[in-house]
Amino acid sequence: MRCSSDGEFIKGELVPYGPIELNPAAAVLNYGQGLLEGLRAHRKEDGSVLLFRPDENALRMKIGADRLCMPAPSVEQFIEAIKLVVLANKRWVPPTGKGSLYIRPLLIGSGAILGVAPAPQYTFLVFACPVGHYFKDGLSPISLLTEEEYHRAAPGGTGDIKTIGNYASVVNAHKRAKEKGHSDVLYLDPVHKKFVEEVSSCNIFMVKDNIISTPLLTGTILPGITRRSVIEYARSLGFQVEERLITIDELLDADEVFCTGTSVVLSSVGCIVYKGRKVEYGNQKFGAVSQQLYSALAAIQKGLVEDNMGWTVQLT
Ligand code: PMP
Repeated sequence: MRCSSDGEFIKGELVPYGPIELNPAAAVLNYGQGLLEGLRAHRKEDGSVLLFRPDENALRMKIGADRLCMPAPSVEQFIEAIKLVVLANKRWVPPTGKGSLYIRPLLIGSGAILGVAPAPQYTFLVFACPVGHYFKDGLSPISLLTEEEYHRAAPGGTGDIKTIGNYASVVNAHKRAKEKGHSDVLYLDPVHKKFVEEVSSCNIFMVKDNIISTPLLTGTILPGITRRSVIEYARSLGFQVEERLITIDELLDADEVFCTGTSVVLSSVGCIVYKGRKVEYGNQKFGAVSQQLYSALAAIQKGLVEDNMGWTVQLT
């Protein structure tokens, strides 16, 4: 879908996957005017395909677009484009329990501009690819390395939107953590360097004395859709869920720690390394609360249970 500076997106067309043509002076290439989203389509046992809360992705893209002075497709246009791509690639949606189809919507400043200003033209595109587990050891609890040098986002920056530039700043720390054998990086707040923020591509939760807590969205954390879903679902089960500032010391003292995200779903954290100290949780097994929430969420996403939360959209 393309749109000029008047803000109206014109219906796009389905094309085979391949390189796209882009002006070398495109705003996205020179000034990072771009947003991404991520969703997954699951196959139900009856063969139909389910999307999980696609309207939330559309709304998050709209918020990001406002921040970056970009027009955004409407919720209807966003979901329509995703349906088109998923249905055209239905044969690539793995059977239930064998993975899912990852969907990547992009909104980019494709118009040429030299100088910092909104692009004169925008492109919204969607591509998809089948995926399995995000972490190489599948559902085994992951290991996080607390980053002490870099921060994912700065106060007043763009950490709370899903803009492409946010990911450039974490590549280095992520690569280093992987080289040391960890699954991912845990970021602390950029001011006090003691409050827990999030992981490179997921949000973080802790459980202590059966109370579930997750860092407050202070502007440097991405408001994850899975994060919100877990909060809502856990509350519906009667859990006390708190969104608040959490210190690294509290996290290290938790009974259970888990991460949430579209790609990771809900991954149990088996250990965290902070300033050379390694803290292990739950004997490298899913904790009881993490397991309960993972099972419930995964079952809704795969259509294995009735979706009483009204979160899934069925494509036939
Ligand atoms: N934080 C970051 C930095 C992410 O990239 C993601 C993945 N989108 C998340 C959190 C989790 O968000 P969601 O649950 O919407 O996938």
